[in-house]
Amino acid sequence: MFAPGAVPRQNVAMDQRNSFFRPELADLPAYVAGAVAPGDSVIKASSNEICFPPLPGVQAAIMHQLGNVTRYPDMAGAPLRAAIAAYHQVSVEQIVVGNGSVALIEKFLTALATPEAEVVLPWPSFEAYPIAAKVAGVHAVRTKLRADGAVDLLAVRQAVTARTRALLLCTPNNPTSAALTHTELRAFLLDLPSDVAVLLDEAYVDFVDMPDAVRGVELCAEFPNVISLRTFAKAYGLAGLRVGYAICDPAVAQTLLAMNTPFGVNQLAQAAAIAALQARGEVDRRVQHTVAERNKLVAALRAQGWTGPDPQGNFVWFPGADTELLEALCRAEGLIVRALADGVRVTVTDSEGSLRLVRALSNYRAEQD
Ligand SMILES: *Cc1c(COP(=O)(O)O)cnc(C)c1O
Repeated sequence: MFAPGAVPRQNVAMDQRNSFFRPELADLPAYVAGAVAPGDSVIKASSNEICFPPLPGVQAAIMHQLGNVTRYPDMAGAPLRAAIAAYHQVSVEQIVVGNGSVALIEKFLTALATPEAEVVLPWPSFEAYPIAAKVAGVHAVRTKLRADGAVDLLAVRQAVTARTRALLLCTPNNPTSAALTHTELRAFLLDLPSDVAVLLDEAYVDFVDMPDAVRGVELCAEFPNVISLRTFAKAYGLAGLRVGYAICDPAVAQTLLAMNTPFGVNQLAQAAAIAALQARGEVDRRVQHTVAERNKLVAALRAQGWTGPDPQGNFVWFPGADTELLEALCRAEGLIVRALADGVRVTVTDSEGSLRLVRALSNYRAEQD
């Protein structure tokens, strides 16, 4: 059934075509993805991915599912939710999966956005937060970090007003790699009004090796306003498949589930994430390897005269650095790092990656003198 149709409209000005969107979306901050390594010999240390190949069980699970991609996946990821619930020993009603944890952050903020709503955003932190807040149409109130780079809970508490709907707490914080303790976070939560939601982003929880580490699942059980956010992108090595999840109160989960994009986590990702959970022993070995590499790297940095708290994520942070110079010196060594506004973030990879960083930093210090 064909008709001639209208001639496509030409020369419509850009601002006119965008006039149906909310005006504040015109100046969304850009999410800058970590640079891609230009060749095999270059090491990518710009996106905090783990530096191992996919787990064998994950590859097999994906291959097994290839024949099923003509079919929609399970709509809300029920088998994956069940596997996650079993792993954390919580009920399946407490788990929501999403197309990367970033998708869950977006849904969460959209769910609470009203014209008056505010969220408290300790900064610098994950770049995706301010973008998600703007897209949701919720006002983000920034607070400073502690001198050690961890979330300043006192500053956060002072920023809470009657309009505050949620807090975006990242621990260990990206990009500073500093973490809160369970004791201080729990004390903070006891003092917080229970109608303020706490999005606890624990993307790097696996890499923490300090005493009194935050136990997010326990906090979710004690405080129904806490939502622990996890991802398969980092320790599990599934960044390319986009899958993350929230552990939260069943009532909160119900709303997030109702809002979720139908079939938001694809077939291959669901199968791969289940296989990754089954391979938790191997995941742990890889995490331990990364933590050991980080600790070796930190010792080398200290020997060079660098000071600062021990990093708790799979990345190290150089605040206040001459970011352009440091990035260029790393690139000259074949290491792609992430230059941000306030410093340079470098993912812990393998011993070769550490060696390159140490060489670049030694050149950096020489240029600074
Ligand atoms: C990498 C990262 C994530 C993971 O996001 P996905 O969408 O699951 O890939 C979440 N939060 C923080 C702070 C991160 O650095």
